[in-house]
Amino acid sequence: MITRMSELFVRTLREDPADAEVPSHRWLVRAGYIRRVAPGIYSWLPLGLKVLHKVEQIVREEMDAIGAQEVRFPALLPREPYEATDRWTEYGPNLLRLTDRKGADMLLGPTHEEMFTLMVKDLYSSYKDLPLSLYQIQTKYRDEARPRAGLLRGREFVMKDSYSFDIDDAGLAASYDAHRIAYQRIFDRLCLEYVIVSATSGAMGGSASEEFLAVAEIGEDTFVRSPGGYAANVEAVKRPLAPEQDASGVPAAHVEDTPDSPTIETLVALSNERFPRADRAWAAADTLKNVLFMLKHPDGTRTPLAVGLPGDREVDAKRLEAAVEPAEVEAFGDADFEKYPQLVKGYIGPGAATGGALGLDADGKGVRYLTDPAVVPGTRWITGANAPGRHVYDLVCGRDFTSDGVLDVAEIREGDPAPDGSGPLTLARGIEMGHIFQLGRKYADALGLKVLDPNGKLVTVTMGSYGVGVSRAVAAVAETTCDDKGLAWPRNLAPFDVHIVATGKDAAALDFATALAHELDEAGVSVLLDDRKASPGVKFADAEVLGMPTSVVVGRTLADGVVEVRDRASGEKTEVGVDVVANHVVALVKG
Ligand code: ATP
Ligand code: MG
Repeated sequence: MITRMSELFVRTLREDPADAEVPSHRWLVRAGYIRRVAPGIYSWLPLGLKVLHKVEQIVREEMDAIGAQEVRFPALLPREPYEATDRWTEYGPNLLRLTDRKGADMLLGPTHEEMFTLMVKDLYSSYKDLPLSLYQIQTKYRDEARPRAGLLRGREFVMKDSYSFDIDDAGLAASYDAHRIAYQRIFDRLCLEYVIVSATSGAMGGSASEEFLAVAEIGEDTFVRSPGGYAANVEAVKRPLAPEQDASGVPAAHVEDTPDSPTIETLVALSNERFPRADRAWAAADTLKNVLFMLKHPDGTRTPLAVGLPGDREVDAKRLEAAVEPAEVEAFGDADFEKYPQLVKGYIGPGAATGGALGLDADGKGVRYLTDPAVVPGTRWITGANAPGRHVYDLVCGRDFTSDGVLDVAEIREGDPAPDGSGPLTLARGIEMGHIFQLGRKYADALGLKVLDPNGKLVTVTMGSYGVGVSRAVAAVAETTCDDKGLAWPRNLAPFDVHIVATGKDAAALDFATALAHELDEAGVSVLLDDRKASPGVKFADAEVLGMPTSVVVGRTLADGVVEVRDRASGEKTEVGVDVVANHVVALVKG
């Protein structure tokens, strides 16, 4: 079948859509692949849908290849299973909730751990049934706070989610590895440059959760790499504790007037001038900055949190958000300062000697105080003295103050050492394309998924969960391949293999183009034929915007027995004889 531009449901736009922040979004809309319906919600037009289906097919083939079986759950789900796992609450405002006519609470699924767990519980009861991997390619809903960049962060989007079920940890590790390999194949086939990064720093260890990030400037994820092969999402970087110091020679803490030093820089300058250190100059890293936040917990309560870190580093908002999940981070506002009058804005410091009000009391009340891994026993600090215009010097951790624990949420900087000693870190940005995660028994426990083991004993199943952003992949591929003229698809994802452009007023060009289209179609090449009565300029521009990898221009040179074959990605143009052009194109397409 040949698709004719004169009939295709498409309109290319000359103007950028007003809300387009990134090139892929701009071009997918301008090329008539998608249309916005509401923030983060898009319709797919014929060209876009073809690409989406190709991505789905690649994902499907690679999931099938590891023995996973395709199923499909509804998007509209009852509340109860999500209540049992606490996600009804924990998911917070990202969960799209609705009420049916009988008043029952429902939700639109953000992921389907609960449903898969219950389905397996329903049907399986023995270790002999395992291992099992199930997947679906399905529409997901999340009421994202900041839908962004078109398909990249939608509120409705297509995800492949799969779940593995195993009897023991070794089985889970094998299922996880199989998924990891499948994901490598998927992202290779999507022609994405990607890195696999550790995604959690938690107790489960480095391999329990990894993300696949497509390297892209406009990505929302920042990741680090070292020359020795360490790679992690910045949220997952866990800096080691600094070595403890011998503070026996450090003088007793002393409070000093530090007028006109509202910033770290002015404080350091004043300290070097008035209270110089014998061994070396004071630096910003010698100051202990205490930053306040409010944590909003899923049950709606708010509690204060103070983070103590060296003054030369900022708190990284994303690292903090990830560390306190499922609580949400809110600013510590003036109203909060009124509730905690002992906290003197700008001069907050730990240590009872200066009236510091940081740290929980025996009843767990007060301001929870967590400190950076650099704040270890024996380290010596300049920090707020809890009085306007005053700082305390030589305040020693362990001697003069303690904290409620360690919290590593300081920004990671270019050149910081990799936690595993594999060299200095470099930072880059990426788009999260996939996530593989050893869930363990959390969901199976909550929902009672147990099977009989070989000894006839009931054991809880251990699970993995694995996601690929299918609609996001369409945007990510567009983003990493487009240029200033439009889209430029890799061959295996393009809506059509070849775009034939007939130009000129006489019938010969269109006749030849149509005949070529039929010949290619018969050879299994999918063809988009521009048969419109438009100017060559309009047609060439559209071919570039639409982004088929190869186009054939049939026009002026036809009289000389040649047509022009254009490569969209490189811009290269080749004259090819009319008698061999069909074979030439077939060879390009079939590789
Ligand atoms: P992100 O950090 O980007 O919000 P996530 O950690 O919430 O992603 P998962 O819950 O692991 O994502 O979902 C699996 C995959 O689904 C992600 O790796 C991503 O590719 C895709 N995805 C997640 N949220 C969205 C969204 N709002 N729009 C499009 N794709 C998404
Ligand atoms: Mg998310």
